[in-house]
Amino acid sequence: AHLDRTAEVDPAVHAYLHVNAEEALATAADVDARRAAGEDLHELAGVPIAVKDVVVTKGQVTTAGSKILEGWIPPYDATLVRHLRASGMPILGKTNLDEFAMGSSTEHSAYGPTRNPWDLERIPGGSGGGSAAAVAAHLAPLAIGTDTGGSIRQPAAVTGTVGVKPTYGGVSRYGLIALASSLDQAGPVSRTVLDSALLHEVIGVHDPLDSTSLTDPAGGLVDAARAGDLAGMRIGVVRELGGEGYQPGVRASFDHAVDLLRGAGADVVEVSCPSFDYALAAYYLILPAEASSNLAKFDGMRFGLRVEPEEGPVTAETVMAATRGAGFGDEVKRRIILGTHALSAGYYDAYYGSAQKVRTLIQRDFAAAFEQADVLVSPTAPTTAFRFGEKVDDPLAMYLNDVATIPANLAGVPGLSLPSGLSDDGLPVGFQVLAPAREDARLYRVGGVLE
Ligand code: GLN
Repeated sequence: AHLDRTAEVDPAVHAYLHVNAEEALATAADVDARRAAGEDLHELAGVPIAVKDVVVTKGQVTTAGSKILEGWIPPYDATLVRHLRASGMPILGKTNLDEFAMGSSTEHSAYGPTRNPWDLERIPGGSGGGSAAAVAAHLAPLAIGTDTGGSIRQPAAVTGTVGVKPTYGGVSRYGLIALASSLDQAGPVSRTVLDSALLHEVIGVHDPLDSTSLTDPAGGLVDAARAGDLAGMRIGVVRELGGEGYQPGVRASFDHAVDLLRGAGADVVEVSCPSFDYALAAYYLILPAEASSNLAKFDGMRFGLRVEPEEGPVTAETVMAATRGAGFGDEVKRRIILGTHALSAGYYDAYYGSAQKVRTLIQRDFAAAFEQADVLVSPTAPTTAFRFGEKVDDPLAMYLNDVATIPANLAGVPGLSLPSGLSDDGLPVGFQVLAPAREDARLYRVGGVLE
């Protein structure tokens, strides 16, 4: 049914870069046969899933939304993909994204944008717009996203879906094409909070292949999603997230959701995290710095595209320059240049060093706020889905979409976005819940009540 609907709807939405119908149907048939034979299978066995194309899948093209990886077929599975397969989940295909997960609208995909199923003239968020649109348009019941600065939560917000960034280290990064290694986390996208909890438990497993993988990842997520009460829970509204720059309809939807939480028995307090005002600036130094290093491996020798210079000698250096010049898009080049500049001798302390200090201040703000509240809440994104072309030529306007999501990545804490209804423009609004590291269950407890 999902494949049929994809054939019908996806030419307009363009959520998928590759659909793997044959393999998905074979997995589904295998699950049916094993179930008929009486085998005790996982709850999600047979439930299909879409995977963001920045996660490697053995034998299936993986491009990260970039021309530099066009046609590249990975020889191995990401650890999280191994868990999906082991649970019997058919992988429907790979979803579109901003090139190397850099962006907030999927307009930076080298293969053309994904459209928001709520309004095809509007962006589905980014970088994981393909995963969110696939779930919103019922092209898949579940999807995998990755979130370095908001790329699971912001697309979820603007498409009316649920998206979760687990605690850093909660889901293995082995087999993610790295953007910024100290920030990247994979996580679930779904239409309900409970569905995300089920999927999170499948992929949230310790992995010796990822040195930052938690040995004891958060548990009790499904139970928390089903708990249905908030008695005694302290909810902190973050003063710095939600004021100036937030669309009035977004703020109204947020305030209404906070009233619902109060009605469900939670104590609502206001908390202040003054360093959050500097999170965006710190992120846009740390991310390009790490990305410039991670993307150095795309050199025309090892993976995908190889371009030889049109004139002059063919040397390692000229092939690298020609390949990277042709293979990377403008946003990727912009960030590589920013990152190498920020890391260069003489600038390192002024830029990268200062950004790391801000990161510590943000972690301290979280620690102080979590003394006063069990979870923190804010709107996920300052606006509802904007129109194509509105921000793509203005990097700073594009970066501002991430003001509310980035602090969680800088501190490694988990975050969930769920729909809190529609704004006065008729478009969905996202409500963000943040919890202390390893307390992912609290996200599901709050989300389960709001839903
Ligand atoms: N929009 C943010 C950026 O452009 C977030 C990206 C992400 O989470 N992958 O960096």
